[in-house]
Amino acid sequence: MGNLIDGRSIAEKVYVDLRREIADLKSKGVTPGLAVVLVGDNPASRTYVRSKDKMSRELGLHSVKLELPASTTQSELLARVEELNCDPKVHGILVQSPPPKQIDEGAIVRALDPRKDVDGFHPLNVAKLAMGDPTGFVPCTPLGVQRLLIESKIDIAGAHVVVLGRSMIVGKPVALLLMQKAKGGDATVTVAHSRSKNLEEITRSADILIAAIGRAHFVKADHVRDGAVIIDVGINRMDDKTNERGYRLVGDVAFDEVAPKAKAITPVPGGVGPMTIAMLMSNTVKAARMFSSA
Ligand code: NDP
Repeated sequence: MGNLIDGRSIAEKVYVDLRREIADLKSKGVTPGLAVVLVGDNPASRTYVRSKDKMSRELGLHSVKLELPASTTQSELLARVEELNCDPKVHGILVQSPPPKQIDEGAIVRALDPRKDVDGFHPLNVAKLAMGDPTGFVPCTPLGVQRLLIESKIDIAGAHVVVLGRSMIVGKPVALLLMQKAKGGDATVTVAHSRSKNLEEITRSADILIAAIGRAHFVKADHVRDGAVIIDVGINRMDDKTNERGYRLVGDVAFDEVAPKAKAITPVPGGVGPMTIAMLMSNTVKAARMFSSA
């Protein structure tokens, strides 16, 4: 399909650049290091952690995968985070969300050294994004969305971007990123959520619609104007008896009916997902560069 934004091939392009940067850092004696911490045995989290660890190994990073039992206490986890904060071989730390319920996720994020917070969730990095300070870390999914738009040569400056969803992981940071007075920004951004009135009217006014609500096939053809660019962040399970797992992954956008109207559209899977991991690797390399000032 001519209007498909292929996240896998754009991620490959990112990796080509990253490999060059990693080689350069290594020639200066610095191997970027990423620690991924999984607490408990949530199957989706386990899959995410495995892919992140696999990719960082493939790129030749120093990769630490910590798998802690579901019974891990808050103070045990804080102690492990502190060890990683102090480990000079580790430049990036990620604690996979969601943790078991005895863990206060906010407190864990605040305990991270913000210079190693490659997920961009520490309050200092949130503030830096809001302030437009490029020394901070931007969350990986929003960064991936922006990169997809840039690589697909879609004009962001002056465009009306409608973001569906206002989470701290996707909706809010992607809105902040695309409205920044900077390259890859300068959009006019509207953020809509579950309390928004006249949702269809709002989404139909979008030049670029970013769906991040976690509702399978929520965005229909009527939500979209002809020629809009559609970025589907959603990852939802839909029952599918023809699939051996009994389900398949679908986005927040009803792809089949929306795609014919769209100027460009991301598929699920194979759109935003691969970019999220690519941006995690990119943030880790950035952290290593900043630590070593290389
Ligand atoms: P959250 O559940 O944290 O946030 C969902 C947001 O959508 C909320 O702001 C909510 O509004 C809004 N919302 C829910 N229902 C509606 C509705 N009917 N109409 C309008 N707005 C609605 O989800 P996340 O942001 O964490 O994730 C969103 C989706 O993106 C999920 O499918 C998730 O799996 C996926 N995801 C994909 C990633 C990737 O790499 N591709 C990475 C991260 C997430 P309110 O605030 O009012 O409750």
